[in-house]
Amino acid sequence: MTPLAREISERIALEGPMGVDAYMALCLGHPVHGYYMSRDPFGRGGDFTTAPEISQMFGEMLGLWVVSLWDQMGRPDPVQLVELGPGRGSLMADMLRAARALPPFLKAVRVTLVEMSPLLKTAQEKALAGSGILVTWRGHVAEVAPGPAIVIANEFFDALPIRQFVRDGGAWRERQVGPGAEGLVFGLSELIGDSVAGLDIAGVPPNDGDMREVCPAGLAVVQALAQRFKAQGGALLAIDYGYARPAYGDSLQAMQAHGFVDPLSEPGAADLTAHVDFTALGAAARAAGAKVHPLLTQGELLRRLGIGMRADVLARANPASVDDLQAGLVRLTGNAEGQMGMLFKALCVSSGLPLPPPVFDMPDPLIEKIGT
Ligand code: SAH
Repeated sequence: MTPLAREISERIALEGPMGVDAYMALCLGHPVHGYYMSRDPFGRGGDFTTAPEISQMFGEMLGLWVVSLWDQMGRPDPVQLVELGPGRGSLMADMLRAARALPPFLKAVRVTLVEMSPLLKTAQEKALAGSGILVTWRGHVAEVAPGPAIVIANEFFDALPIRQFVRDGGAWRERQVGPGAEGLVFGLSELIGDSVAGLDIAGVPPNDGDMREVCPAGLAVVQALAQRFKAQGGALLAIDYGYARPAYGDSLQAMQAHGFVDPLSEPGAADLTAHVDFTALGAAARAAGAKVHPLLTQGELLRRLGIGMRADVLARANPASVDDLQAGLVRLTGNAEGQMGMLFKALCVSSGLPLPPPVFDMPDPLIEKIGT
C-alpha cells in the first residue's frame, strides 16, 4: 500500500467515498505524495515519454508557429508566451531556440510557466537557464500577467481531474472511490438527477453501463483563457490525446514504467490521465466568446508546419543522427498504433486575431473522414 493509499483510505473512513476527480487530484497533486510532486516521470527511465522528449523537432515546429502567430497579431510588445504544465521544460527551450529566427520576438516575449510541482519547476529552471529570456512561474493560469498572450499546452489537459458518470437503471450515477476488502474499489453514488447537464450525447441515447466523463478543471481553464483572449487578444494551442467527437467510455488510465496499471492500485506512484474531450473544451471556449478552429491531428499540424523539411535539414547537418531523426519523425506524425500522429489532436482557440492562426485555416481531412 502506498502512503497516499493509506491517507486516502483514512479520509474515506471519515468522510465517505470520494469522486474520481477528488481521487485524481490527490494522486497527482497531493503536496507530499502526489505523483508530479514527488518525481520526474518522463523519459526512458520514467513512466512515459511525451512528444518534446521524443524529438527537439516537436518544440521547434511549435516555436515557428508561435513567432508566425505573433507576427500575424501585429507584433504586440510585450507579448505573454505561456506554457501550461511544462514538464521538464524541454518544449519551451526548443520553442525559444526556434524563435531566434525572429529576433524582435525575443525582445517582446515574456515567458510564464504555469506549474504546480516545485520539483518540475527546478527542472524547468535548469532547462531554460541558458535561454537568455526572463521566465516567471505561476501556479494557476488566472495569475498570468495581462496582455496579448500565446498559450501552449502539451499533455496538460489529460492530467486534470475528471468526474465519471455511469448509466444505471436509466439514470446517471457518479463513480466514486471507496473502501474494499483489500484496498480501494470503485462504486457508484446515489442518483444524481439533473444536477450535471449534458451527459447524454445528442442523438446517441445512453445504454445501461455506459460511462461519460466530464473535466470541470479543463473546462474552467479554457473558459478563463477564452475570456482573456476576448478582452486582450491571443490564442491557445492545446495538444493532447483524446476524442474529436463526444463518446461514452472509460478513459481513466494509470501508467507506470511505460505500462498500464490499475488506477486504484498505486495512488501517487503511477501517472493518472484521461482522454481529452475536445468537443467539450471547444464548446466552453465558444460559450465564452472565443473562436474555435478546426481540430487537427498532431501529424497534420506538424506536417503543415514543415517538420519533414526540418528533419531533412537536421539530417544534413548531422548525418550520424539520420536514424534517430527518422524514428522521431515517424513516432510524432505516424498514424499506426504506438505512433502519435493520429491519436494526438491539436485544438486552437483564439480571439481578437485578424486571421485564423497559422495552419488552422483548413480542416484536417483525416478528422473530417474518421471523426475520432
Ligand atoms: N508538457 C510536458 C509535461 C506533461 S505532464 C511535456 O509534454 O513533456 C503534465 C504537466 O502538467 C506536469 O508538468 C505537471 O506537473 C503539470 N500539471 C498537472 N496538473 C497541473 C495543474 N493542475 N496545475 C499546474 N500544472 C499541472
